[in-house]
Order: sequence, then structure tokens, then C-alpha cells
Amino acid sequence: MISAKNVNKYFYTPEELHALKDVSMDVAAGEVLVVIGPSGSGKSTFLRCLNRLEYANSGSITIEGTEVLDPDCDINEIRAEVGMVFQSFNLFPHLSVIDNITMAQMTVRKRSKKDAEKKGMELLEKVGLAHKYNVYPDQLSGGQQQRIAIARALAMDPKVLLFDEPTSALDPEMVGEVLDVMKNLAKEGMTMVVVTHEMGFAREVADRVVFMDGGQLVEQGTPEHFFTNPEHERTKLFLSQIL
Ligand code: ADP
Ligand code: MG
Repeated sequence: MISAKNVNKYFYTPEELHALKDVSMDVAAGEVLVVIGPSGSGKSTFLRCLNRLEYANSGSITIEGTEVLDPDCDINEIRAEVGMVFQSFNLFPHLSVIDNITMAQMTVRKRSKKDAEKKGMELLEKVGLAHKYNVYPDQLSGGQQQRIAIARALAMDPKVLLFDEPTSALDPEMVGEVLDVMKNLAKEGMTMVVVTHEMGFAREVADRVVFMDGGQLVEQGTPEHFFTNPEHERTKLFLSQIL
């Protein structure tokens, strides 16, 4: 589904920084890949390169065979296929919940308002928030807003969903409701790349875990491997700090 090969990304301000160093990573259809690593290790930059919110400087990234780094590729099409859920929810504050979920369906997927609303209500049902369809984001808790953001991403029928620390901005009592939605998606066979510090989720749901540090992919393996027998010193140190 996703194949990243030797991806390099540099930032030039405030100073030159080699943020991704020859990162190669494949994700199979239906796989749940969890990406872990310290702050500043390049996790968000890598996710953002996958749907070209950041443009990688070199390497290759294909999504079902389409080269994302091809300047001629249809980036709106790529973004429709590769959904993203952010730490900060990023709902449109001036739109009701249902309008948040229908807008891109109509503009990008060219669905009628009726079809978009039908799909929107089904997805709200799925994340347990159908009764909130007509309220505005600021009337919802953080956990509810994040469940809406997931429903909005799903409304595009993406091939892949990327999650960038989706529970990091939540009060602890709301983390579970968001992780439950994500677990259900995983069970349904959604292809997911999840950056998270929730090691319980990684252990239970990940098919594979990747550890990044200093812009490099240091180690990857099954959750079992990571939590019982990590190979690299950097991985051991990181896990000892967060577990
Ligand atoms: P992580 O998500 O693992 O915490 P990031 O991918 O956000 O790490 O950042 C990796 C490195 O790239 C950090 O040193 C960060 O400061 C830097 N960085 C990220 N985005 C930018 C940007 N837009 N401009 C300059 N530097 C950036
Ligand atoms: Mg990040």
C-alpha cells in the first residue's frame, strides 16, 4: 500500500537540519504500523511527507503505485486517499459537526449533499456521536472532537489513515474512547500508520512497530520483539524512559 524508499528531508530554517535520513518503510494493505520515538526524531515529518504536507527532498514514496514525489501527480487525489488525524483535531470551528464531515465529500469526492450527509451520519453512528451532528466543535470535549476528526477522515473513503499523536492533547479520561475507535478500525482492516506514545495500544493493536531516532529508522519488528527483546541501545533507552 505504502512504499517509502530512502526518503530524505531537510529543513533550512532556522538552520539546516537533516530531519529524515534515508528512511525506508513499507506498509501492507490492512496493516497497522505504530511509529514510536523521542520528540524531534522525525515522526511527524515522515507522516507529513506521506501525503505531501511536506515535500521530501529525495527518495521515493508510492501509495498503491502512485509516486507522491512526482511533481505532476494529483496531490488532491493523494490527500483524498491518505487521510490524516492530527494531535490538535483541526476541525473547522465555524462549521457544525455534520458540515465538518460533509464538506470535503462534496468538494473533493463530488458527492451530493444528501449522499454526503447519509455517509456522515453513518460515520457519526460508528464513532458514537450521531446525537451531536448539529453542534459546533467548541461544544464538544476533546475526545469527542477527535472522534469527529476520525469520522471526517473516514468520510473520504481513504486507503490509508495516518494518525499523529491523536491522543496526546487529551485529558487522560478521554484517551480510551479515541483508542477504542482506532482499535475498531484496525479490526475492520483499515491500513493505519499511527504515531503514538500509547504503548498499550502498540502492544495490543500494532502488527509492526517502528522506532525512529535522530531522523533515522533505527529498528522495527513485532510488538513482541519491541517489548521483550529490543535490539538497539537507543531503543532500549527510549523504552526504559516511557514504560
Ligand atoms: P517528532 O514528530 O518526532 O517530534 P518532527 O518530525 O516534528 O519530530 O521534527 C523533526 C525535526 O525537524 C525537529 O528537529 C524539528 O524541530 C524539525 N522540524 C519539523 N518541522 C519543521 C519545519 N517546518 N521547519 C523547520 N524545522 C522543522
Ligand atoms: Mg510529532
